[in-house]
Amino acid sequence: MRETIELRVEESEAWRLFRDDEGVVLPSGTVRKVTLPTDDERVSRVREIDRTLRQQGQLFFAGWRILRHYSARELKSAELLKLGMAAVFEPSGEECGTEYDEATACTLCGAGARQVTDLSLDVRRIPQRADLARTLSHEWVISARLADLWQEHGITGADFRPIRGAGARAEPVKEWYQLVVTAPPLDILPATLTGNDPFDLDEDNAQRCPKGHVVGLNVLSELSLRRSDYDGSDLTWTRQQLGMRSGVLRPHPLLLMSPKLHGLLVELKVKRLDIEVAHLA
Ligand SMILES: [Zn+2]
Repeated sequence: MRETIELRVEESEAWRLFRDDEGVVLPSGTVRKVTLPTDDERVSRVREIDRTLRQQGQLFFAGWRILRHYSARELKSAELLKLGMAAVFEPSGEECGTEYDEATACTLCGAGARQVTDLSLDVRRIPQRADLARTLSHEWVISARLADLWQEHGITGADFRPIRGAGARAEPVKEWYQLVVTAPPLDILPATLTGNDPFDLDEDNAQRCPKGHVVGLNVLSELSLRRSDYDGSDLTWTRQQLGMRSGVLRPHPLLLMSPKLHGLLVELKVKRLDIEVAHLA
């Protein structure tokens, strides 16, 4: 596995760490996208520079993304993989009339609000070339085409629920389903690194639920999961959640998939997925 970090650095401050010819200045002209191997010695200096600038009301970087690149062999030998959806759309279900029961949510972290109606969405906003996509609130949708193929291939651990258009009397749509997981969840083990960003591991636990529902804002390493929790389902998920409750944002579990499901998605050329190896221990 080769790991790189993509940083969006303020163009006016980029000189503090980067050569003029490093990275790509984005069309706005104010942000430079720089990609470095995570073991580049300069990565450790990003935090220090950013903190100094923040004290002056400036900032050094405004966005980040860790990318993990695998060989075909590494992917093929994985026992379980993370299934991330890079196709993200708005508005979220709640903004289109989907109801959640907040009484079932944890009062500390907001995790666990139960969805009590069918998912309502403005389906015209779903990225049309994606077969798997999610809202900003991590409501997962699957195209009817892919759902049929999953059923045909006997993919386990998944169920498909109707999606309605926005509006009180909207009928279920034909092209999409809500993807829900029926498999029992897996514990995220402490070997998994979580935090606010790669330079801020949330040492004061501000984004972690004392009751253990939410383990941080983001996962920063590959996932390590409890082997004895895994029942062999093709689609499954984590017991602990990531993220935060704010506006339409909700803490959310991470999706996991078997090598069989991964193979099927590759064969079907399903686009815009963010796939990583997950480790069972
Ligand atoms: Zn909680």
